[in-house]
Amino acid sequence: MAAEKNKYTVLISEEEISRRVKELGEQISSEYSGKEILLICTLKGAVIFASDLARSIKVPCELGFIKAKSYAGDHTTGSVDINFEDIPDIKGRHIIIVEDIIDTGLTLKKLSEYFWAKGPASMKICAFLDKPSRRKVDIKADYAGFEIEDHFVVGYGLDHNERFRNLPFIAKL
Ligand code: 5GP
Repeated sequence: MAAEKNKYTVLISEEEISRRVKELGEQISSEYSGKEILLICTLKGAVIFASDLARSIKVPCELGFIKAKSYAGDHTTGSVDINFEDIPDIKGRHIIIVEDIIDTGLTLKKLSEYFWAKGPASMKICAFLDKPSRRKVDIKADYAGFEIEDHFVVGYGLDHNERFRNLPFIAKL
């Protein structure tokens, strides 16, 4: 990691992340009081956020995973590749799709249309980061950690060619 030290600038610190994730957990816990949640984490980028978020939610909560890919390196390919195998049963359940970042919105549009057709009792979107200036389709997060400008960012699960996911903060390259 030392060799990579000067290649990025910290944008959101570990402390800010920890505070915000706890706030989101509290908000979700209070809004879903008396209910059970199925958190659907998009792999791989949202795995660290979803792990922290799940631990800050105080109502019963199941975790499901789905693999989605739309980026190659630091640019969007414009098409979304989703692996729909091993999806937990969604019908009648309160689901929250947990995403690392909303950029064009194409991934979440495809995922939310797919999940909605399966008949959940309710469906919301929780994104750790949001880049509204990049949006190509009309998608909004019900819960969002931080709004950021149009930077390519890494850390806290987000990668560049599979590197940097383990940084405990968000940095721009
Ligand atoms: P969208 O479909 O909204 O354009 O893109 C969503 C996916 O693109 C995210 O789940 C993430 O994998 C990738 N992505 C978008 N912006 C960034 C970014 O700034 N950094 C990284 N590492 N990935 C990004």
